[in-house]
Amino acid sequence: MSSTSTRVALVTGGSRGIGAAIAERLARDGVSVAITYSASEHDARAVARRIEAIGSRALAIRADARDVDAVRKAVHTTVEQLGSLEILVNNAGILRTGVLQEFSLDDFDTLMSVNVRAVFVATREAAKFMKSGGRIINIGSITSEYLPIPGGAFYAASKGAVVGLTRGWARDLGAAGITVNSILPGRIDTDMTPATGPVAQRIRGSIALQRYGSPDEVASLAAFLAGPEGSFITGANLRVDGGASA
Ligand code: NAP
Repeated sequence: MSSTSTRVALVTGGSRGIGAAIAERLARDGVSVAITYSASEHDARAVARRIEAIGSRALAIRADARDVDAVRKAVHTTVEQLGSLEILVNNAGILRTGVLQEFSLDDFDTLMSVNVRAVFVATREAAKFMKSGGRIINIGSITSEYLPIPGGAFYAASKGAVVGLTRGWARDLGAAGITVNSILPGRIDTDMTPATGPVAQRIRGSIALQRYGSPDEVASLAAFLAGPEGSFITGANLRVDGGASA
């Protein structure tokens, strides 16, 4: 498959969970896909193999989101190896919880470096290579709008920053024909928030659809935003939460 006729995506944190589902879904839509990971090399290579089995080109890049140079380099490596960059999915994220009285500065800095600073660095770098039609999709969280329990303030703040960046960058990049949107997932069944166990049982009752979502149900919206039908959507923060915030 030629890189000149095929769109190229970079999905950060594509080794597991929502990122892996988005990477594979984009590949099924004919997109060449680079993914980043920090620790899960085995999983990242498995995702890359599945993408190749679909018939798309794949690249697995170790790039810790806490490392500014590594994030920047991941964007450049994608363009060098796959030929261009049309879609950036800022998905890599971590969850740190704790109430105000106990939350440490270290946790604050780590959370912000992965969930906010890396999004800034990757997007600024990617925008240099994107032409009209480019798509930036940020994975936020419903917690930036709806936080029913204590201990989530800092994670919510990091995801609230993503919402603000999305609106602002839609304005910054609109004239260049690049769209910027965020997806706000609710409870999705991944390693971060498994759908099993006593906590999950309690949470399930607060979701209108009475179940956790699957990574594929987030990936389908990402694919829509990345595809031709999402061409007039920008600056939007779209919930995929099974009605948890209804
Ligand atoms: P996950 O299952 O824990 O997967 C996280 C992914 O991000 C992995 O591929 C992981 O790769 C990567 N990652 C984590 N830290 C990284 C770092 N420092 N550098 C590079 N990659 C890193 O999480 P998920 O549930 O799929 O979450 C994906 C995104 O959705 C996150 O932004 C999360 O905040 C958001 N979200 C999730 C939910 C939910 O219910 N699951 C709800 C709302 C929003 P490695 O293992 O290699 O580090």
